[in-house]
Formats: sequence, structure tokens, C-alpha cells
Amino acid sequence: MKNFLSEKAKNIAPYAAGEQPKDKKYVKLNTNENPYPPSPKALEAYKNFDFSSLNLYPAPDADALRAAVAEAEGVLPENVFCGNGSDEILALCLPAFFDEGGEGAAFADITYSFYPVFCNFFGVKYTLLPLEADFSLDLDKLSAMPAQGLIVANPNAPTGIGIPLAEIERFVRENSGRVVIIDEAYMPFFNESAVPLIKKYKNLLVVKTFSKGYSLAGMRCGYAVGDVSLIEGLFRCKDCFNSYPLDRVCQAVCAAAISDGAYYAEKNALVISERERLTEALRGRGFEVLPSKSNFVFARHGRLAGKEVYEGLRARGVLVRHFQKPRIENFCRITIGSRVQNDALLKALDEML
Ligand SMILES: *Cc1c(COP(=O)(O)O)cnc(C)c1O
Repeated sequence: MKNFLSEKAKNIAPYAAGEQPKDKKYVKLNTNENPYPPSPKALEAYKNFDFSSLNLYPAPDADALRAAVAEAEGVLPENVFCGNGSDEILALCLPAFFDEGGEGAAFADITYSFYPVFCNFFGVKYTLLPLEADFSLDLDKLSAMPAQGLIVANPNAPTGIGIPLAEIERFVRENSGRVVIIDEAYMPFFNESAVPLIKKYKNLLVVKTFSKGYSLAGMRCGYAVGDVSLIEGLFRCKDCFNSYPLDRVCQAVCAAAISDGAYYAEKNALVISERERLTEALRGRGFEVLPSKSNFVFARHGRLAGKEVYEGLRARGVLVRHFQKPRIENFCRITIGSRVQNDALLKALDEML
């Protein structure tokens, strides 16, 4: 039978998202979702939403949401771009800031595995910088790499390691001749955001999401903050692809969520304190745990292979993420859950060990 797919569709290697199993109820610690519900204000915005308005298209540029984001981030609405998940924004960054056949992008060998997928999809070449032996990223080495633009996840995934703002600022300054994209998906658990730097550095784009720190993974919304010239590039590319990426409900709920900073500061502080507790508890059980600034820990056991830990936990109803990849195949990435979830994880480990 004739294969109707394009060469690209036939040959591309898509991103593999963490499993969302339906066979039974798991303690789900595999996709870095927040264990707490969205803010009561967000839930209220949902309940009060006028669903009869859904016959009309949503605001194409998400103006009210951009204003709410700008208010919360201390920038102007024209410095904000909103997308259908930060994944969509990261994807739009490739056509917006990178030329096909150009010098391409540079990023770490162990980082968010969507970056190489986006590069391949948009025909942008990429170069990988190996992380150091302790899984830290040497920003000076990244600065020395030839590339049209640089991408850094801070805190990094799946290592969880965070880079202090002062080091990020020096990196952005030293690369003022090219675009620097900082993916801050996990910044609500680190609080060293580079957003205040966008006024000073025209080459800086900071990408954030409602999925992790705002308990709204199911809503699919993210945003980018940067100089108006970068934001305009994203709009130009968005409008070649989808004029209305965010539906009306999403825009209303996310605007309410981001204006409730106090609620999320409290919940994310709980995640951080559970992260510290879990780190100690895992170390006490023979795990090496990388120092995490995110809502997950990356850990390897002294005796058990990563796959054994993953499978042993899965058999006991606890789901974590394992990457069959060189250098990290003995690690598991474990999302910080509620106290009850984390205790279930520790109990399952105690049974196994
Ligand atoms: C989760 C994650 C994202 C994207 O999340 P969205 O749900 O698409 O907003 C982006 N970058 C990193 C590093 C992530 O872990």
C-alpha cells in the first residue's frame, strides 16, 4: 500500500511524554504535576465562566491574560506572549529565532528532551554540550559554542539542578549578540527568575508555564517574557500557524490563577519542604540524590539499576520516570507529591530494598 506520509513525518522521532496509564490507579509521580489543586480564584473563574460565549472565537492575542501575567511579573503586556503550553512557545522559538541551515541552537546533552525534537522538526541544527561529571552545566563552555542561539532550562530537567540568577545574568550579558532562551518551567520551586533582566538585555527570552507551579497542567498554557522585538517574532510565527491557540476558558482561568500569587507561594513552599524531606529520606535508603531546585528529584540507587527501581515501584503502584539514556540510565526522576504520596513512595521502596 502507498505510504502517504511525508519524508519528515515518516522519519521524525517524536517526543515521548510520560505515561498517563489507565490500567489502574497509581501514585503518579512521573510527569511533575503539582499535587495541589489550582487556586480557589482559578476554580471560581471556571465556575463563573459564561459558557454561552463559546460560539465566539477567543481573543487571538490573549490580551487580558497577557495583562494579568505582566502585572504579576512586573513587566508590560507587550513584553508577554502566551501559548498553548510552554512547549508550544518553545517550538515557536525555532522558526522565530533560528535560520534553517544556520548555525543552529546549542544546549546541554542532558536537558529537556523536547529541544532536539523541535530542532529536527524545524530543520534547525543543534549542538550538545555535555554536562559536567556532577551534572552541572558550565555556562562558560556553552558561551564558547558556535550557535545562533542558546537554550538553558533553569532549573534543569531531569537533573533538577538550578543556576543562581547572578550566573545567568553574566551568561546573558556575554551572549548579547545572540538570543538566549531560559526555560523556567520549574522556577516556582527555585525563585531566581531571570524575568527582571529582560529590561536590560534585549537578547533574553524567559519561558514559563502554568503546568507545574500553577497546578494547571490540564489547561495547557505557558508564557514568554522578553523584549518587544522577540515577542513580535513569536507573534509573527504564531499567526502563521494558529491564530487562536488559547481558548476562552483557559485565558480566564489562567488570568485568575496568576493573580493569586499568595496561594501558590504557600503551596509551592509545601512542595519545597517535601522535596527536602524526600531528598534526605532517599539518601538514607542508599540513593544518591542530585541537589534539586525543582518539584522533582533525580536519584540513583547504589545497588539497584534505574530500570529495576522504576519497575519495582510500578509493580507496587507508584509511577516514576526512567530514561533509558546514556549517563542517566541508573537514575529515576521522581515528582514531589503530597506528603501522603511521598510516604507511599517511601513505603514501596522499603518493601523493595
Ligand atoms: C514541563 C516542561 C515544559 C512544558 O510544559 P508545558 O506543559 O508545555 O507548559 C517546558 N520545559 C520543561 C523543562 C518542562 O519540564
